[in-house]
Amino acid sequence: MSYGTEWRKSGACATADPDLFYPIGTGNAAARQIAEACRICAACHVRRECLDYAMENREAHGIWGGTTPEERAHARRKETDAQRYGARTAQRTAPETAA
Ligand code: SF4
Repeated sequence: MSYGTEWRKSGACATADPDLFYPIGTGNAAARQIAEACRICAACHVRRECLDYAMENREAHGIWGGTTPEERAHARRKETDAQRYGARTAQRTAPETAA
């Protein structure tokens, strides 16, 4: 599925400080920015669309849909692992086809 970007106009971040969503560094200041961005995302009506867009486009930076880049990378790894495991399980349980 492909996600357009029309939903962005309705985002709760439309009037927020953009720097909150792209914190620099990893210290306490960045942690406060991330927490504030995620608080804004929690009340956003297009959060699902935002997160789906970020996942589909492999957004490597910034807060999208209330998630950090690390959280999205973790979710992608879990998804990939589940797909691999599912494929292996399906191969093992697939019935033999008659030739
Ligand atoms: S979920 Fe967060 S980053 Fe996405 S549009 Fe809403 S407020 Fe902005």
